[in-house]
Amino acid sequence: MAGQLQLVIACTLAAASGLVLWFLEQGRERRQEPKSGCPGRYERGMREREYIRLIPPGEMQLVRSFLRSIYNARGWAIDAASRERAWADVLITAQTHAGGNWPLDFQPSDITSEQLQSLCLAVERFFLGGLLSAQIRKCCRPLLKVEMGVDPRDPHSWLSGLHEDNTIYVNANRLRESISDVNPMDFEGTLCVSKLEALAHALGHELVHAVVLNFFPEMDATSPAYIPDDKHGPIFMLLNKRLFGHTGHASRRLFTVDG
Ligand SMILES: [Zn+2]
Repeated sequence: MAGQLQLVIACTLAAASGLVLWFLEQGRERRQEPKSGCPGRYERGMREREYIRLIPPGEMQLVRSFLRSIYNARGWAIDAASRERAWADVLITAQTHAGGNWPLDFQPSDITSEQLQSLCLAVERFFLGGLLSAQIRKCCRPLLKVEMGVDPRDPHSWLSGLHEDNTIYVNANRLRESISDVNPMDFEGTLCVSKLEALAHALGHELVHAVVLNFFPEMDATSPAYIPDDKHGPIFMLLNKRLFGHTGHASRRLFTVDG
């Protein structure tokens, strides 16, 4: 009888300790799992391999498929030589009669709406293969428009900004200082040696916002991978790099180097 009692007690203790170990193990696994829907927080200065992990798989798939269609439309992917050629083509086109007869250096007050329109379309054609304009027409949204002056929504904008109605405001006050090879400007990793070049890159930056607004309106409105840092989150960073070769952070996107 005593032997049976000892056996029951031993079995009970073994079962109880097994249960305790199981609970402890479950807790450890739960602590190691990433919390679903909360993969981490975007912070300025993150590297691509860090911020790319913050883009949810569904949105990443949409972005990847969009990029593939852009690469097909423009005829090149992300190689640096093709990208440099495309920027050079934008500047050459802008200086032709059909491209707006742009001078490399200009005063903002001398620039017409037609010139701004032509430059924006050249950037869009060489870098997005015209797919953004096609998407805007397909969705019956307002056409892209560029205004030189003061952004009524943000009079102190750093250089430019995009509104919901597809109007890009370029802050004329930021383009008064000269930009040249002795006083260049670093625009998100590209050294610009003329105002025309800096303006073309600024329009490229705004076209990234226009891409998200017109191709992915839900991401534009709600995605935690796009919204952070005034809509310069991981999705913006990735598209800006893959489409235009722009790196670095928007907050430091523009500064003048003393000559
Ligand atoms: Zn921006």
